[in-house]
Amino acid sequence: MVTDVPPRANPDRPNQDRANQDRAERLRAVLVRDGDRCVWCGRPFVGLVQPTTDHLVPKVKGGPSWIENEMAACRRCNGQRGHSTPIDWLAECEGRGWSPDRAALEAAMRGLSAAIDARGGQRRAARYLDSQWRRWSRR
Ligand SMILES: [Zn+2]
Repeated sequence: MVTDVPPRANPDRPNQDRANQDRAERLRAVLVRDGDRCVWCGRPFVGLVQPTTDHLVPKVKGGPSWIENEMAACRRCNGQRGHSTPIDWLAECEGRGWSPDRAALEAAMRGLSAAIDARGGQRRAARYLDSQWRRWSRR
């Protein structure tokens, strides 16, 4: 699901502007953390391949709007992944002959698990992530 929104001044909705700014700042931080390429297809973010925010645990599955739940993916991968689980989409990417960044995915899963442990709550996201870890370890 593509959820990034380009920051745009809107004097009638200052809170929306703030949220867009926060999102853009988080995306920049994710790029510094994970590198300047799509986590799924490995294409570098240049020219028409622009980064979008992809949620490790989809928001519709209870994923929080935390940087620990965010990865940088190109618009194509983000859109085609839709609400697929990260492990299902990882397998799909590999089936297509792409080279997804497994290390970045595993690091993101660890980071989100640690953040949920530290902050508490997020029970739906925690359950979702647990099921992904079980499948990860069976690979
Ligand atoms: Zn991609």
